[in-house]
Amino acid sequence: MITERLLNEKFRFREDYIPGWLTQSQLDARKLFLNEIHRKNKFISVSECPYCGNRNFIKISEVNKRGLPSDIVICDSCDGCFKSIVFDKETARYYYERISHTLVGKSTFEDGLMQRMRDRIRLFGYPKYKFISHFVELNPEEDLIAEFGCNDGANLMPWKENGFSVIGVDLDSNMVEFGRKWELNLIKSDMLDYDFNDRRPKLIILSHSLDRVTDVNAVLNRIRQILNPDGYVFIETPSIRTHGLINTIQYFDVECNYYFDLNSISKILKRYAFKIIYADEYNRILCSPNQSQKSMKSKPISFTIDKFRAFLFKKIIDRMNFQNRSLYDLLVDGQRRDIKIRVFNKLQRLYFQNFYNSIVKTNE
Ligand SMILES: [Zn+2]
Repeated sequence: MITERLLNEKFRFREDYIPGWLTQSQLDARKLFLNEIHRKNKFISVSECPYCGNRNFIKISEVNKRGLPSDIVICDSCDGCFKSIVFDKETARYYYERISHTLVGKSTFEDGLMQRMRDRIRLFGYPKYKFISHFVELNPEEDLIAEFGCNDGANLMPWKENGFSVIGVDLDSNMVEFGRKWELNLIKSDMLDYDFNDRRPKLIILSHSLDRVTDVNAVLNRIRQILNPDGYVFIETPSIRTHGLINTIQYFDVECNYYFDLNSISKILKRYAFKIIYADEYNRILCSPNQSQKSMKSKPISFTIDKFRAFLFKKIIDRMNFQNRSLYDLLVDGQRRDIKIRVFNKLQRLYFQNFYNSIVKTNE
């Protein structure tokens, strides 16, 4: 049963609303979405909470950031947030082939892509490589590194440059073609269908992709089958309690089906018997199916100004005591944007940034 309690009236879908900040081609893509997907009702309804199986939800929004219809609910029992109407497989393919590029405003020009790739390797690929290397030891001679939803392959580049075999899987054929020009081993496939032929990856990276899959349970099940039993999964996905707290409509993306927080993502990982080695409320998680796998947390973090700042911000955040509130109450407060919640949100961001940087610098 779904009970409607929208966060406020801005979260109601209105067909006549036109988001003025979209370009003409984005508006055309939006119209295509409304005509071909919304009006033809090409959605499937989710009747069970993907995290706990409960069937009672609170509907908090029926719209997402480009004014498109999108029912978003919180589970009555476990407080997890997700979309309750999702694309079926055929609609997802149609959406990603015909609408996504234009709607999101992605660059398809070669020059734009080259610069974007270089930036992404430097800003995201290398820091992530160093962050993961802080917690686990991997061997370039033996270990295969895979990424699901790899886009242009920027996250895999540092691993390749450090001698690892890499495989990236993505549905977007343009990005796969582009990444191959960088001599990356990228494959156009659904992550559920790709066959690793007994070569089991030691690390699977899911960077901003687990929130976009149609069925998170099917994906985690598949990962359990193909991952090396001593391997690791690194997940990052924007948390609703951090990224989605204040600009909540902007955070609700048409392409995302799961709005995880640390609680919901931990719950679902434990269901698939993953041992969590590292996790934070920014939704950066490292886990392993091997229950005796230890983290290298004992490895000291070098003293830097980032480490000091992180320590300081954490102290204040803990004192503000927002963490234990229910997700619904927290989001309602977030929409009011009072000074206390804005300060809390800012401090959270600063804390996670500084903490991340302190680990990256330790492994430089
Ligand atoms: Zn639930």
